[in-house]
Amino acid sequence: MPEFTQSVVDLIDEFAKLPGIGKKSAERLAYHVLRVHRTEALALADAIRNVKENVRYCSRCYNLSEAEVCEICRDPKRQQEVLCVVEQPRDLMALEQSGVYQGLYHVLLGRIAPLEGIGPAQLTLDALAERVRRGSFREVIMATNPTVEGDSTALHISNLLADLPIQITRLARGITTGSVLEFANKEILADALTGRQEF
Ligand SMILES: [Zn+2]
Repeated sequence: MPEFTQSVVDLIDEFAKLPGIGKKSAERLAYHVLRVHRTEALALADAIRNVKENVRYCSRCYNLSEAEVCEICRDPKRQQEVLCVVEQPRDLMALEQSGVYQGLYHVLLGRIAPLEGIGPAQLTLDALAERVRRGSFREVIMATNPTVEGDSTALHISNLLADLPIQITRLARGITTGSVLEFANKEILADALTGRQEF
């Protein structure tokens, strides 16, 4: 029985590690790479290398950035006194695409999920508390996902910031409970932001 060469086996193994990719799909992707022009295949390799070498987390808000501080944090036109707390950079992108939010962000890089062993210490909560304590924010908007875990993360944060003279709000429930920010459409996100309520 013919076998793949070691290089092909390695490529299939790497593809099979990707989320949602099974053995069969991994083989299909490997065949695709073998078939396409060298330039195209190497462009994929370069894109992966560039992302890993150039993209990091913003030192202020933990958004993805190619500089020490991200574009949003550097933009003087953003409202400096409103801070929106999201779980992941992709949630930040979804809110940006809604086009209604003009303030700053803080990305938690996760949510409190005891069943998965993710506690407050694994998130960027210390940095958030420090930022709010030192900054001149008048409002912190909780834009964690409307799931049990997102809600309990928001509650944890509101307790963390309870002694500070700021208003804490939560996105309105335009988004169906259990759905995720990144999949909500622009209009719904815009409504959820405009209709935000006291936490
Ligand atoms: Zn930033």
